[in-house]
Amino acid sequence: MNDKTIKVLHLYARDMNIYGDRGNVLTLLRRIQWHGYMPQLLEYNPGDKFPTDVDIIVGGGGQDSGQSKIQDDLIAIGPDLRKLADDGTPMLVICGLYQLFGKFFKTSSGEVITGIGLLDVETFGKSERLIGNIITHSEQFGDIVGYENHSGQTYLGHQVESLGRVRLGAGNNVEDVSEGARYKNVIGSYLHGSLLPKNPSIADYLIQQAAVNKYGRFEGNTFDDRISDLARKAAMKRPR
Ligand code: GLN
Repeated sequence: MNDKTIKVLHLYARDMNIYGDRGNVLTLLRRIQWHGYMPQLLEYNPGDKFPTDVDIIVGGGGQDSGQSKIQDDLIAIGPDLRKLADDGTPMLVICGLYQLFGKFFKTSSGEVITGIGLLDVETFGKSERLIGNIITHSEQFGDIVGYENHSGQTYLGHQVESLGRVRLGAGNNVEDVSEGARYKNVIGSYLHGSLLPKNPSIADYLIQQAAVNKYGRFEGNTFDDRISDLARKAAMKRPR
C-alpha cells in the first residue's frame, strides 16, 4: 500500500440508497485498497458543505419522495458537479439519481422533479413499473448484470451515449433497447443489484480514471475475481 489516497464521495446516502446500492460504495473502497491505494469515504447529504476535492462520486436510487426531497439541494450543487464532470471526474449514479442527473423526471402522478441536466436525458413516469433481473451488453465492459425497478422511462439526447444494449429486461425504456447513459467519465444506469460487486470491470474503470486524474497514471493490481464471476454467472441464469 502506498500513501496515495482516492476519495470516494457518496451522494445522498440517507435519501437515495435502495436495493443494495450502498454495495457500490463498499466495492469501490475495497478494490481501491486491493489496487494499492488508500480509500477515503466522504458522505454528502442535503445541507452539507459540498466537498469539491473528491476523486470518485457515487450515488444510488430512491423513491419518488426521496427524489423530491433532494431536488433543491441537488440543483444547488449542480454547478459543482458539472465542473467536476467536465474535468473528467468519474461518477456512477443509479436509477433515481441517474434520472436527476438528467434534465427532469416527470413522475406518473404528473409532478416534475427538476434535474441538473448533466446528462442529456429526460425521464417520464409511466403506470407500468419495469421490474426484474436485467442483462445488458457494452463493448467496453462486456455483459453487465443487475436488477431494475423503476416507473420512469428515460430517453437519451444527442450529448450522451448509452452504457449498454439490453439483452434481457427493459433498461432506459421499453422502446429502444438502450440502458444507461455516459458523458465523459460519468455513468448513469438503472442497474441496482448492486451493480459494482457483480460488474467489477466498471469499478476498476472508475478507479483507474480517478488515479490517472490525480496521479497521472494508474498502477493497479490484478487479483482473483472468481467470486464475483460466480455471482455474475448465477445472476445471468436468473429468470426475468
Ligand atoms: N422513483 C424512480 C422511479 O420509479 C426511481 C426508482 C429507483 O431509483 N429504483 O422511476
